[in-house]
Amino acid sequence: MAKRDYYEILNVGKSATDAELKKAYRTLARKYHPDVNPDDAEAEKKFKEVNEAYEVLSDNQKRQTYDAYGHDGLDPNGFASHSAGFGGFEDIFDMFFGGFSQGRSSGPRRGSDLRYDLEIDFNEAAFGVTKTIEIPYWEDCLECKGSGAKKGTSPETCSSCQGTGQVTMAQRTAFGHFQTVRPCPTCAGQGKIIKESCPACEGEGKTREIKKKDIEIPAGVDTGTRIRISGDGEPGERGGPPGDLYIFISVRPHEYFKRNDNDIYLEKDINIVQAALGAEIEVPTLHGKVQLTIPEGTQTGATFRLRGKGIKNPRSFANGDQFVQVNVVTPRNLSSHQKGLLSEFGKTCSEEQNTIPTSEKKSFFDKVRDIFG
Ligand SMILES: [Zn+2]
Ligand SMILES: [Zn+2]
Repeated sequence: MAKRDYYEILNVGKSATDAELKKAYRTLARKYHPDVNPDDAEAEKKFKEVNEAYEVLSDNQKRQTYDAYGHDGLDPNGFASHSAGFGGFEDIFDMFFGGFSQGRSSGPRRGSDLRYDLEIDFNEAAFGVTKTIEIPYWEDCLECKGSGAKKGTSPETCSSCQGTGQVTMAQRTAFGHFQTVRPCPTCAGQGKIIKESCPACEGEGKTREIKKKDIEIPAGVDTGTRIRISGDGEPGERGGPPGDLYIFISVRPHEYFKRNDNDIYLEKDINIVQAALGAEIEVPTLHGKVQLTIPEGTQTGATFRLRGKGIKNPRSFANGDQFVQVNVVTPRNLSSHQKGLLSEFGKTCSEEQNTIPTSEKKSFFDKVRDIFG
């Protein structure tokens, strides 16, 4: 099924400012919030769509990618689609304040899950690392003790719903008399109205704080890996358990190593003399430099395997391999002396020596394809 345009979903223009996006998002998220539309699959779908659209467009980098390449431009590993159920921090906090559930249900409520995007280096991913991350969270405002009302005043009970946060609407139709319960539009389901907002928290009743946490990233993670930290999400309400914290890993590319699962791929230039006569060359691996034997008569594209020099699989603990593909470099800017030598050498070569049989050519490509198909 074709995905709808994110701007269209949020009903904003392509040049919408951050503030306009946020406003559109809040309005739609409230409209389609599952608490407002219980058992309505269509609304739930819309709610997810709205969250996903906002998550992309509220992130400058993702928005640029989306503007340039559309849905296809967003992470090929399906990163964006994994996160459809989550918002970023901002979204979740918006839901917290915009949510209708606060005044409605009286039972314990599990805290929201949080998502943290963490970018790490290639080597950190290969060997594991401990990272200190800063997690924003909301705490009851000290100034107003969480009420959101200016010091010396207190929130007033909403007269439209008598503080229940809900209004009942009666509807007469051909099939009979229906009553529907909706969040109170006057107080947005809060049951209370704040006449004068607390200046410290702008009436939200909560202030944003930061907590630091050390996260152990195991060896072998890759872009797309999610690490769940149980209980480090939003605190629960009314005695409910906290949500979880999810660390979404993305790995910065390496200067010359490429990675495929647990295997490492490296391209290495050799000269025509090394290729023709064979040589011992030094190649870098993640585990330090190693000697590699280049056999006599090596052609461009030949691939050598260094067993166990890849990345440790985080589940099986088996080590991947490193593959070295050689490029034979034709020398340039030769002196006249060198030209003379080569031309003498050329005269001695037979047709057969200068030709690669078709069967061998094929096998180079097959090899490469087998490794990085
Ligand atoms: Zn306050
Ligand atoms: Zn009300």
